[in-house]
Amino acid sequence: MAAIHGGAGARSQPGPVPGQRSGAPLPEPAVLVQAVLWTGLIGVLALWWFTAHPVIGVAGWMIGAGDIFGMVAGYTCALLVLLMARIPYLEHTIGSDRVARWHAKAGRYTIILLVFHVVFEYWGSALERQAPILSFSWQMTMIFPYLLPAAIGGLLLFAVGVVSASVVRRRVLYEVWYFLHLTTYVALFLTFGHQLALGASFTGTFARTCWFALYLSAACAVLYYRVFTPVRRNLRHRLRVESVTTEAPGTYSVLVRGSRLDELAPRPGQFFRWRFLTKGLRLSANPYSLSGAPGPGLLRITIKQSGDHSARVAHLRPGTRVWAEGPYGALTAARRRRGKVLLLAGGVGITPLRTLFETLPAAPGDLTMVYLARSESDLVLRAELEAVAASRGGTLRCVVDPPGEDRPSPLTAAALRAHVDDLAVHDVYLCGPPGMMAAAWDGLRTAGVPARHIHHESFAL
Ligand SMILES: Cc1cc2nc3c(=O)[nH]c(=O)nc-3n(C[C@H](O)[C@H](O)[C@H](O)COP(=O)(O)OP(=O)(O)OC[C@H]3O[C@@H](n4cnc5c(N)ncnc54)[C@H](O)[C@@H]3O)c2cc1C
Repeated sequence: MAAIHGGAGARSQPGPVPGQRSGAPLPEPAVLVQAVLWTGLIGVLALWWFTAHPVIGVAGWMIGAGDIFGMVAGYTCALLVLLMARIPYLEHTIGSDRVARWHAKAGRYTIILLVFHVVFEYWGSALERQAPILSFSWQMTMIFPYLLPAAIGGLLLFAVGVVSASVVRRRVLYEVWYFLHLTTYVALFLTFGHQLALGASFTGTFARTCWFALYLSAACAVLYYRVFTPVRRNLRHRLRVESVTTEAPGTYSVLVRGSRLDELAPRPGQFFRWRFLTKGLRLSANPYSLSGAPGPGLLRITIKQSGDHSARVAHLRPGTRVWAEGPYGALTAARRRRGKVLLLAGGVGITPLRTLFETLPAAPGDLTMVYLARSESDLVLRAELEAVAASRGGTLRCVVDPPGEDRPSPLTAAALRAHVDDLAVHDVYLCGPPGMMAAAWDGLRTAGVPARHIHHESFAL
């Protein structure tokens, strides 16, 4: 493989298993990152504790509580940005889907904290001055420095939070949700001033420097990884569509040609966000995994039609300019802990697993792929998989599971064990539609595969 780096030279060697460690196991990257984030939160609370004014009366308690909610919300806002800055360490070790889930969870807490912050600050201040809450809140917003922009920023954040709630998100177009999300940066810019100008804890130089450093690093990470790096890479690699071929009805492979692609060093199992610079596709950058690299200077993705974007891809013309951001994703050989591996694919979830099937270092007999599809024609890339299985001494099991038929699930523990008898001692790589992934997870766990040996990636971000 020219452009996907996976140790092709080790194809038929047992070799060292990437990620296998001797001695005491190191903490998972996810645990390390969470430890850093929680330490930061403790730091924020300590800052408040050592700088808080003495609390007097109910109003004092309310304002104090409002201050804490505000400081923690200020901290989580910076984290929200950092988590979505596409920092390679997070994307490659923890995985984009997991980082996105953390971001979504932190976002929900941030909205709650913001609401409490506003209510407690305004109510406490009105109580302190014995003033009617509504008119006093209005005056306060108009008179206090930076409070009007902060209020506008807060409303924007609230709107983003509402659109991201799953009930609403299911009903709005992905693009609407995405572009509204981008206003988060404006909202944070608007709210930043009032934090330093009005926050009682930010009068000292140390506290102000820490806060500036937090927000500046978040802004720099976004500019560097989401703007500068993609621009630089795309100007350098100059990607263009080479060809589009039909793999099955509604499923297409797109070959993309570029220069110096080896510098991108994508690993098997990773994906890019692809923006095709042509009518109807320019505005969205959709994630698609690499499904192989059939030659030098070429990358290949395989796309199943599921909506507007994926349908238009079928009509791409050779020569169309392509902007790709990546590589991203943690469904790689680095996750592997055991010698024996089962690759369990459902439908178009075959794409990342096909490259792993070809490149994971393994002895003959160590690799098994179980590939589920709704019909024979949906078993895309089958000929390639058969060739890989034959050349590597791997096992390929293709299972056709038509929808709506009253048959036992092919994903029960018993059904999976019928394909791989010593299943419990395998590492499993799992990718497919959400329903299939959930059923496979249950089947694998029942069959005795520990959760930490099931490596998966969700195609729904
Ligand atoms: C890490 C990853 C790897 C993927 N690899 C493949 C692959 O190799 N082959 C393949 O066929 N599909 C893959 N997908 C799924 C593919 O990205 C979506 O099916 C496609 O983006 C749908 O877009 P659409 O406009 O055609 O459909 P729509 O009906 O408009 O969207 C369907 C759903 O796809 C998701 N989606 C749409 N646009 C985006 C976007 N820009 N970013 C993230 N999610 C989006 C949203 O959840 C949306 O609700 C992958 C997804 C992820 C997250």
